[in-house]
Amino acid sequence: MKRNLGLYIHIPFCNSKCNYCSFVSMVGTDNEKMSYIDCLKKELAMRAKEYNSYYTISSIYIGGGTPSCLPVGAIKDIFQTIYKYFTVRNDAEITMELNPNTATEQKINEYVTSGVNRFSIGLQCIDKNVLLAMGRTHTVEDFDRTIDLIRDNGISNISADIIVGYPDQSTRAVVNTVEHLIDMKIPHVSAYMLSVEEGTPLQMMLHKGVKNLPSENTVVKMFNSVSSALIKSGYERYEVSNFAKPGFTSRHNKIYWRREDYLGVGVAAHSCISNVRFSNTEDVNEYCTCIRTKGKPPVAHAKKLTLDEQKEEYIMLSLRTSEGLDTKGYMEQYGENFLAKYRDKLAEYIKLGLLVIDSEGRVRATDKGFLVLNRIILELVS
Ligand code: SF4
Repeated sequence: MKRNLGLYIHIPFCNSKCNYCSFVSMVGTDNEKMSYIDCLKKELAMRAKEYNSYYTISSIYIGGGTPSCLPVGAIKDIFQTIYKYFTVRNDAEITMELNPNTATEQKINEYVTSGVNRFSIGLQCIDKNVLLAMGRTHTVEDFDRTIDLIRDNGISNISADIIVGYPDQSTRAVVNTVEHLIDMKIPHVSAYMLSVEEGTPLQMMLHKGVKNLPSENTVVKMFNSVSSALIKSGYERYEVSNFAKPGFTSRHNKIYWRREDYLGVGVAAHSCISNVRFSNTEDVNEYCTCIRTKGKPPVAHAKKLTLDEQKEEYIMLSLRTSEGLDTKGYMEQYGENFLAKYRDKLAEYIKLGLLVIDSEGRVRATDKGFLVLNRIILELVS
């Protein structure tokens, strides 16, 4: 029987570059975009030869970059290629990322008729000064209009991303943003604490003292306000940064957290299949040249995970989720008693109110534990 596979497609283009962004994305011309799509379609055909006999696609995620900045017809073209070469389950979750000021009525209709049944939208904040400081080129009105267009096309499965802790972002701005999402009945929210990445304009501004980060304490308070507002309104915090109303958790993200197989296609796309991690080059020109001249995907890194690395990932990823770490599953996969191996450390975290062990033997982080999760994980796996 064929196994399930998550398919990720990377679109490395945006209309402009945000100040905090370290993703592989650039502002491209229509010609560059179409040339990239041509190579992407070729890679899809190559990858299908390798995997389609063994796998059925259970979820598709078109991310970036900003997939919705592609010219009209490009996304439809990508989907036709996917359906031509891969077997896609009828009930597959098909998500597409979009930015509020790139979605037109014609484009949304194209995406939905191509099979997209879930949208993930980058809102980040509703305060126009914060959006400007982030280098984002949309307004909250653009976001609201996009939601209406999506719902007019019959799609209710919508997620919004927000950033917490940007310089000059007040707690009020964060709370207003989350309240706006609750009022708009957006069923899934991803809330990320700002992470300052090397080489970004934001990092330079902080370095020069032009901008200052809020204190760690303030960011924690902001995040707690987001979390309590969402939980009070019926959302479940099913992963450290993700909140969903019942029935709206992201199936594609769960593939990553459960260490199931996924294939990434496109520049900089990462894959993990049968415990082999591999990724394509991050250079768009190199990507296209390799596909065109060598007729093979430009894999930059590949590594078979050792048993210890697999265990570390299992611990790291499962503790991020509300399902927690399934100690029975751990025993089945690795023949090791997790509770016995980490007895002393677990007892300490439980005493501090950071972890709990439920009646089914699952080890789960508490809300307090989620705040220091990286430290807990590091101490467990080191
Ligand atoms: S829209 Fe997203 S991918 Fe594009 S520049 Fe901004 S943060 Fe980066």
